[in-house]
Amino acid sequence: MKEFWSGRIRNAAPYVPGEQPREGKYIKLNTNECPYPPSPRVLEAIRQAANGDLRLYPDPECLALRQAIARREGLGVEQVFCSNGSDEVLAFAFQAFFDPDREVVFPRITYSFYPVYTDYFGLKCRRVPMNPDFSDPVEELCGHNGGVVLCNPNAPTGIAVGLDVVERLLRANPDVVVIVDEAYVDFGANSAVPLIEQYPNLLVVQTASKSRALAGLRVGWAMGNENLINGLCCVRDSINSYTLDRIAQAGARAAIEDEAYFQINCRKVMDTRDWATKVLKEMGFTVLDSKANFLFLSHPTRGGKELLDALRTRGILVRWWSDPPIADWLRVTIGRDEEMTALIQAMQELVC
Ligand SMILES: *Cc1c(COP(=O)(O)O)cnc(C)c1O
Repeated sequence: MKEFWSGRIRNAAPYVPGEQPREGKYIKLNTNECPYPPSPRVLEAIRQAANGDLRLYPDPECLALRQAIARREGLGVEQVFCSNGSDEVLAFAFQAFFDPDREVVFPRITYSFYPVYTDYFGLKCRRVPMNPDFSDPVEELCGHNGGVVLCNPNAPTGIAVGLDVVERLLRANPDVVVIVDEAYVDFGANSAVPLIEQYPNLLVVQTASKSRALAGLRVGWAMGNENLINGLCCVRDSINSYTLDRIAQAGARAAIEDEAYFQINCRKVMDTRDWATKVLKEMGFTVLDSKANFLFLSHPTRGGKELLDALRTRGILVRWWSDPPIADWLRVTIGRDEEMTALIQAMQELVC
């Protein structure tokens, strides 16, 4: 029943996040979380921030955190915007830069939050079919658009494009904003941040949720020309000036500053990914070349839903979409080595 609901939410089709089971009995390979804990320095910074100052509002500018990101990326602090998870940053960006009269374009198979945002904010979108190998339909994303959204590496395929492709999109769409969602960039792709200086229409969005093992803290950020950053601040301050709390600002800053721990974590995930890819291919799976912390795979004789359900019975959660072009595919988050071994053993029972 939707009595009392506004017209806007009566017709909304919200995003459905992956399952977060209440009991810990599952091997959880369904939401692309990091299998390792955050840096000990992050936990220490959070403990330090849990003090009487919580009676005070947090810094609405998130200055110390933005400085840490700006330092790491070689940007000015005025080129960085932080908020409560990159989902929120993306929601602000769709509102800040896209207008209802022109279509926002993105690939047909990509992060399923983008069409939710365009619908909810009353925008039009054009979802461009993928090439048969799931690579991005680059030419179709060039020109006559109201904006472009590119997830790189893409989700849920894990396929990354080079900066030549990003630059092609920026040049072909000079009068609109090109958002590059780099939620997974730290697992082996090239970031578009070095292009910010040259392209005033580029907004790069990243998150602490995946490569910095902080999905539970809810911190994301955008990087771009100061003009774009000001646009994001305008949306934020029209809704909620204090999106990032004191604990999150302190923890995320410590995560950005512990570069060594971050590098080791990413390396471990990539090594496990490359090993698991090889084994699953030997078992007959088609596994796309992933530059992310997950694999996108299918099997010639077993359906996606069939594998999803059978894995669940064996205590392993993975992600599946009923969307026809990918209905026979599964997205499997890279877990610890022993979790991937359990996945591979379960798959062996299922496919032979
Ligand atoms: C996980 C993810 C996000 C959201 O990350 P949060 O910072 O946790 O909100 C954004 N984009 C893509 C493609 C993701 O996979």
